[in-house]
Amino acid sequence: MSLSAVRNWVFDMDGTLTVAVHDFAAIRVALGIPPEDDILTHLAALPAAEAEAKHAWLLEHERDLAVASTAATGAVELVRELAGRGCQLAILTRNARELAHVTLEAIGLADCFDKELVLGRDEAAPKPSPDGLLKIAQAWDVDPSELVMVGDYRIDLECGRTAGARTVLVNLPDNPWPELTDWHAADCHQLQAMLG
Ligand SMILES: [Mg+2]
Repeated sequence: MSLSAVRNWVFDMDGTLTVAVHDFAAIRVALGIPPEDDILTHLAALPAAEAEAKHAWLLEHERDLAVASTAATGAVELVRELAGRGCQLAILTRNARELAHVTLEAIGLADCFDKELVLGRDEAAPKPSPDGLLKIAQAWDVDPSELVMVGDYRIDLECGRTAGARTVLVNLPDNPWPELTDWHAADCHQLQAMLG
């Protein structure tokens, strides 16, 4: 299959469509999470009151980042070209849905995505779980193999692989995970060029 034949595109948001600004090390320190722990998994295992307080802190922290988001190189042009070609578009993020909307507004892409097809950490089990991708495939009534998952990190690729989708890695000059990757582009500008 060539990339230009793909009709169903799912994007990670932070670091993929935007310039990565999350300082995950600082977030772990602020929330008392060990450096090796996954943040969302750690919070999910805490007593309810503590988990709620820490989620609230995380949401506020991320809201500030969302408002100040800037688009990654070529991301706006890529998404607009895909929309222009009539491709179906969705977002699968570990951020919160409402903050994903704030982010998409900030980078000028809010009109390209159906709000129901922006899945955050409360709409699906977080990546690397394939849950969100499978939900999007179901919403579009397509086989997961007809989707591509575009992301900037290993969990995006793992999520895509586990769901049975194709995977695209962007925004890294070299590919540390070739076994998980179907296509690799240094940035979204290069990915757009690969569409032909
Ligand atoms: Mg990312």
